Amino acid sequence: MHFEIAMRTDTPFPGTGRLDALISKSSRAVTISHFRPDGDAAGSLMACTRYLRGRGLDVTPVLPCPLADYLKFIAPPGSGLIDYETSPVEVDAAIAGADLIVCLDFNRLSRTEYLENQILSAAGAKVLIDHHVEPDTDRFDVVYSSTEVSSACELLYRVLMGMPEIGGDVSNLSLEVAENLYTGMMTDTNNFANSVSPSTFVMAASLLERGVDKNALQFKVLNNHTEPRMRLMGHLLKDKMTLLPRFGAAYMVLTAEEKEMYSFRPGDAEGFVNLPLTIAGVNISAFFTECREEGYVRVSLRSRPGTDVNALARGWYNGGGHINAAGGRIAMPAEEIPAYLLKSLEEFFEK
Ligand code: 5GP
Ligand code: MN
Repeated sequence: MHFEIAMRTDTPFPGTGRLDALISKSSRAVTISHFRPDGDAAGSLMACTRYLRGRGLDVTPVLPCPLADYLKFIAPPGSGLIDYETSPVEVDAAIAGADLIVCLDFNRLSRTEYLENQILSAAGAKVLIDHHVEPDTDRFDVVYSSTEVSSACELLYRVLMGMPEIGGDVSNLSLEVAENLYTGMMTDTNNFANSVSPSTFVMAASLLERGVDKNALQFKVLNNHTEPRMRLMGHLLKDKMTLLPRFGAAYMVLTAEEKEMYSFRPGDAEGFVNLPLTIAGVNISAFFTECREEGYVRVSLRSRPGTDVNALARGWYNGGGHINAAGGRIAMPAEEIPAYLLKSLEEFFEK
């Protein structure tokens, strides 16, 4: 494994010699991102795909499961995107036949849900571009990892800008690549509210200069919801949000019945977990979604600086993520979640 950068955001673009050499000697590549892909996963996946195609490679972008409706514009029909739930045979063949495998926006291969073994046994060179804590570096040939960037898209932007033929000049990126990168940065920062450093705004400015239509993307991704989704948000905030002042915490549980009542679609709960953090004194927000068919409850965790929800997710919810934004899952009936949350917070704060 070659650890290319533990990157600081105030340095020039990272060394990309090894990655450039790998790309130059590859002809078939696969790009992969994580289960339940968000805007950063989809944006980094397709930006990398389109960049590599621009370098002449035959690239298959792969996801463990389909994109949520609100992200489908990033990979419209014809983009070549395949997912394991819909096309397992094609996904396995693409991974096995690739001489370059680029993994984006996840730190552990287990985040690909079904693809860990295929990736491990594949002969292709493996590259990781990720911004989560504690990446599985041993499993990759080249690793770009930094937790100081806003998003995988910001890290990928820096990697691409460091490529010899891009030469730090954003006008050498295609407009589609620029739009995909902007989308991931915008969504992972909650529209430039969280995890933003000076380099994030520098990148945003340069992508706007490249011609990205910020308002159009914002409308497509952030202001394109359904009426039932908005009413579900109202219901959850008014009738379900519970405060736990002792822990400076708030939580909501979305049940399978409520999902049905509000015609819930994947992605509809995106952002709900952030809302309780706007209450003074709330430092931790937990949002639980019952996934009855899968037999578990998913959790999203957010915190204000000073509280490490990555540790909470790892220790009590079989997950992980970032210090102030993490997630996981637990196999238990939704009714038992409130008591388990109390217990987990008690133990977490004892530590
Ligand atoms: P979200 O709450 O938006 O689903 O996820 C927040 C963060 O936690 C993301 O950075 C995501 O990568 C991470 N995360 C979400 N679910 C899981 C999980 O099941 N396992 C791990 N390791 N990380 C997760
Ligand atoms: Mn991300």
